This record gives sequence, C-alpha cells and structure tokens, in this order.
Amino acid sequence: MDYLRLMAELHGGGARQGPGGEAQTRLAMQIAGLSPSPDLRVADIGCGTGAATRVLAASLGAQVTAVDLVPAFLDRLRAEADAAGLGDRVRTLACPMTSLPFAEGELDAIWSEGAIYNMGFEAGVAAWRRFLKPGGILAVSELTWLTATRPPDLEAHWLSAYSEVDTAAAKMAVLEKQGYSPLGYFVLPESCWLENFYRPMEGRFAAFLEANSSSAAAREIVEAEIREIRLYEALGAYFGYGFYIARRTEEGEGPEGGA
Ligand code: SAH
Repeated sequence: MDYLRLMAELHGGGARQGPGGEAQTRLAMQIAGLSPSPDLRVADIGCGTGAATRVLAASLGAQVTAVDLVPAFLDRLRAEADAAGLGDRVRTLACPMTSLPFAEGELDAIWSEGAIYNMGFEAGVAAWRRFLKPGGILAVSELTWLTATRPPDLEAHWLSAYSEVDTAAAKMAVLEKQGYSPLGYFVLPESCWLENFYRPMEGRFAAFLEANSSSAAAREIVEAEIREIRLYEALGAYFGYGFYIARRTEEGEGPEGGA
C-alpha cells in the first residue's frame, strides 16, 4: 500500500510516467492516418498524468477518455487539461484496464503508451479489440528486444520482470493473431528515455526522499529506479520501447475472405 502511494508520489511529479515524447505521439498519429475531427472517440489507457492525452485532444480535436488506476494522476490531468482549454474534450476515468466500461465498437482509436504491460500485451490487445469500430486504430508502446540476441543476464532480467518481452516481429505476429493489421512500428529514441523520463525523475529523488524522511521504502524505490536507469544506459542498444500502430481487421478480411 505504502509502495503504491510512494510510487504515485515519485512519478506523479513528472510530466510523464514512462518513456515517450510528444513528437513520437504525433508520429504514431500520422502512421495511424487519423484525421482531426470533434467526432473522434479515443481512449488513452494507462494515461498517467496525460502526456499523450493532451496531444490527442489538442491535435485531433478528439473526445478523449483518459483511463488510469491512480486518481491523483487523473486529478492533475484534469487540472492541466482545463488550464490548456481542453477540458471539454477530456473525460477522466479511474478504472483498471482489465475492466473497461466501453461499449462494443465505440472507439475510433485506443492509445496506450508504456502501460499495456500491466495486463500483458497479448491479453490487452485481445480484450480491447471489441471496443474499436471496424477499422479502428490501436496504438501502443511496449518493451521490445531490438536485436535477435542479447547478453544472457539482460535477457534473464527482463524475462523475470516482464515475461512477454519479445522482438518486434513477434509482437506484430501477436497483433495479427488477435485480429489486427499492423500499419507501422518504430522504436522510441534514447531521448524519450533519458531526457524525457529518467533525467527529470533523477531530479526529483532528493525532494522525494526528504518528503518521506528517507524511509527504507522510499530509499528502496529510488535505488530500484537508479538500477533501471543504469541498465538502460549500459544496455539500451538491446531493448527499448517499440511503438506499434495497427488497424482492427474484420472476420473474412484478407485473401481467404476475398476482400
Ligand atoms: N501513458 C503515460 C503513463 C505510463 S506509466 C505516459 O506515457 O506517461 C503506466 C500507467 O499505467 C501509470 O499511470 C499507472 O498508474 C497505470 N496503470 C498501472 N496499472 C494499471 C491498471 N491495471 N489499470 C489502469 N492503469 C494502470
């Protein structure tokens, strides 16, 4: 319990809660071929404090439902969307990503940056598909091996932290199997990890420890983050976040269906 509160406190102070960037959100939107319209219905799942939500609402003029487990993140998202004049386009929803309340075929796009691992990539893309309109867009970033082989210790580390870590080819095969047609894939550049995520987090460590009287739990969290940062700095050539953009396909679509 204390752990979750402390994690929310450390990460809630940042502009984003995972690796990513505004330019990369825009690139994914471009690959998706989404045209701006006030009628677009988009969900940003595991939105955190809304790094992607704001880009989607502002650039697409879409109605965005921002979903996260942590109410404090959503409060901040709400305040910042209001301040940016986007309040009427953004709805916040505190809800687990495993039990989303959307109707069948309600959404034009499902967005999820650095969050689907919480339920697992395959379970997530399978469960969320039915909320998309036919031809609707799925855009998710996901931990990905960038090379065919890697140092055994690194492989063991990520397999134990996230058993679904895999290559882009394998992730695309999962998308195809689950009823999507991949439109594009790109790797988040190093700046999305270091400049946009890790460096600002490092800058918050001292205040976070002080606010929590350097408790054992707070120190453990900071030490674990530092280990993760060092791992990325040393071995980031082998792993990263892949951004996958895909379209929901229909039964019978493709060669066998004669489409
Ligand atoms: N998309 C944001 C946040 C990524 S961090 C960004 O790119 O900055 C992952 C987010 O998923 C966190 O905000 C966390 O609170 C949320 N999360 C974790 N488990 C969840 C679950 N089961 N259901 C919904 N959100 C969850």
